[in-house]
Amino acid sequence: MFRVLLFDLDGTLIQVDMRVFVKEYFRHLGMHLSPVIDPQQLKEHLGYATQQMIFNQDPEKTNREVFWEVFLDRVELPLDLLEPLIDEFYQHKFKNLKPFTRCKPEARAVMDRAEGLNFELVLATNPVFPSSAIYQRMQWGKVDRYDYSLVTTYENMHFCKPNPQYYLEILDKVGADPGECLMIGNDVDDDLCAAEVGIKTYLVEDFLINRHERPFEADYRGSLKELPDFLEEVAGASRRT
Ligand SMILES: [Mg+2]
Repeated sequence: MFRVLLFDLDGTLIQVDMRVFVKEYFRHLGMHLSPVIDPQQLKEHLGYATQQMIFNQDPEKTNREVFWEVFLDRVELPLDLLEPLIDEFYQHKFKNLKPFTRCKPEARAVMDRAEGLNFELVLATNPVFPSSAIYQRMQWGKVDRYDYSLVTTYENMHFCKPNPQYYLEILDKVGADPGECLMIGNDVDDDLCAAEVGIKTYLVEDFLINRHERPFEADYRGSLKELPDFLEEVAGASRRT
């Protein structure tokens, strides 16, 4: 049955309210870049460039390329001025956002069990961030030490959630059929849309997000705590078949 597990990160493996987190992220980055750009303008440009990256349908451009193209066009500052400053932010200041997240001990129990049962692991976090921002959050949640065959970042992906193309790109990268994969996440829009390409879904209800309060269907649902036993059952079922 399932061979590959796709895990969402924020709100699934780590406890974080992304509305608060993104607000703080913009605020911290705004302070850091304030010598060269007005923080309010930065916020607007970041928001716009992120939106364009999420809407992008061009398979030739990575998310990073889309982001920078739009962002540089808006801020009217050169890349060689901005990039070192932004790198410095991720290296030294992004860690100040850690207090807005919390580690979930159940997440390690899930990942330990998944690894023990020999599932292939994919960290299918929305690739709107550079890898350093993603790996730091994985560290904060203590889920960085697992052997992922893919961690989706804005450098290596060409689409974002909830675009079904994002899931097709993962299938292509790991060489899996949709029927072999299970997407595990907390977001009705971003994670359950994996079903559109034939991937089964497990909705983690601990911090369920349903922005548009729309009716939805998940193949499976439950808490993160219940997931290790569920994986055990699923692995057992595939051994029997
Ligand atoms: Mg999430």
